[in-house]
Amino acid sequence: MNARFPISGDAVPYRLRLPGPTAVPERVLRAMAQPVVAHRGPEFLERFRDIHARLKPILGRAGAAPHLFASTGIGAMESAVVNVAGPGQRVLIANNGQWGPVFRRLAEAIGAEVDEVTTPPGSPVDLEGIERALKAKAYAAVLAVHSESSTGALTDLKALGEIVARTPALLAVDSVSGLGGAEMRQDEWGIDVVVSASQKALMCPPGLALASVSDKAWEVIQRDDRGPRSYFDYRRFRPNSEKGEPTYTAPVAMLNALHEALTMIGEEGLDATLARHKRLSSALAAGATALGFSVFPKATPSPTLVVLLTPEGIDAGALIERLATGYNTIVAATRFEDLKHRMVRIGTMGAVGDGDILTDLHHLASAVRDLGGRPDEAAGLAAAAEVLAG
Ligand SMILES: *Cc1c(COP(=O)(O)O)cnc(C)c1O
Repeated sequence: MNARFPISGDAVPYRLRLPGPTAVPERVLRAMAQPVVAHRGPEFLERFRDIHARLKPILGRAGAAPHLFASTGIGAMESAVVNVAGPGQRVLIANNGQWGPVFRRLAEAIGAEVDEVTTPPGSPVDLEGIERALKAKAYAAVLAVHSESSTGALTDLKALGEIVARTPALLAVDSVSGLGGAEMRQDEWGIDVVVSASQKALMCPPGLALASVSDKAWEVIQRDDRGPRSYFDYRRFRPNSEKGEPTYTAPVAMLNALHEALTMIGEEGLDATLARHKRLSSALAAGATALGFSVFPKATPSPTLVVLLTPEGIDAGALIERLATGYNTIVAATRFEDLKHRMVRIGTMGAVGDGDILTDLHHLASAVRDLGGRPDEAAGLAAAAEVLAG
């Protein structure tokens, strides 16, 4: 493997096309290079509060501001688990991919009793199964994934929220690869905890996470009947977030990056940003299908990535390697052992435009051709162009 870092003068620039981390726009990189100021000083607090204000419409949250902290996405998932559940408490996991099992590991680590409603990878979450399980037993929480980046499936959170809202259980959602690219209506859909991270649709480097907590969840979290927790204890965050102040030393450079990224979303307009994600993911899926790939998820596809199976006879590992070495284009493999020769995952989240999608298709076609396939590149580009124009 011989993928290079961006070197000016490369014939083909380095193209980070993973479903996270995603390409960071120049503007966001420059924002990170600003002087590091006091994180409780007036200049920074003003920016911090603006981040809160800009995040709320993206979350669909009118009430309390989200908590922002240094962590990756899994840390944010852990923060949700330790605040909504405790040792001996029962949690229900909606599992249709690889992130449900991560929730399971985190819940088991604190001694929670875990039940799962499982559907095969790429299928939608089994909503009826969740409803049945919630009728059969009392759960402290339901844990679900918004955009299953292992399969490309998008969860119907509106429907799931409706089911969970009828019970005392809290609904905690991993929207690490959703927020900012897939619609989120936390208040309206009744989602009690939304967690996300910086390196996906929010187009920042990895290292910053957030958790947005509903009023229903606050009531429970305040009861103090969970297990031991400290860094991730939302009770520590709450008074600070209410005042518009950071908890712990704020990761100033990362927050400057997030502020700039949120400003970009504001300039485009949230509705336009979400529409762009749908348009680009549909265009890439249509173009790849015309090249001989097939779209993996049977569920509603997530707008933030496209998960493909390779054309017959094309090995996914060889294709991914060829894209990296021949075209400086970095896409993702799978951890599903039985799909590793067929599955390719490409991000459509964050700072991605029409030209990126057409370039992806051009490189996919070239790499397939290099490996002995006979893709109809013109058909692929035409299919994508039609969706892009739509
Ligand atoms: C990328 C991703 C994560 C990432 O977790 P990290 O700790 O930041 O690696 C978690 N959940 C989902 C659904 C993701 O797509």
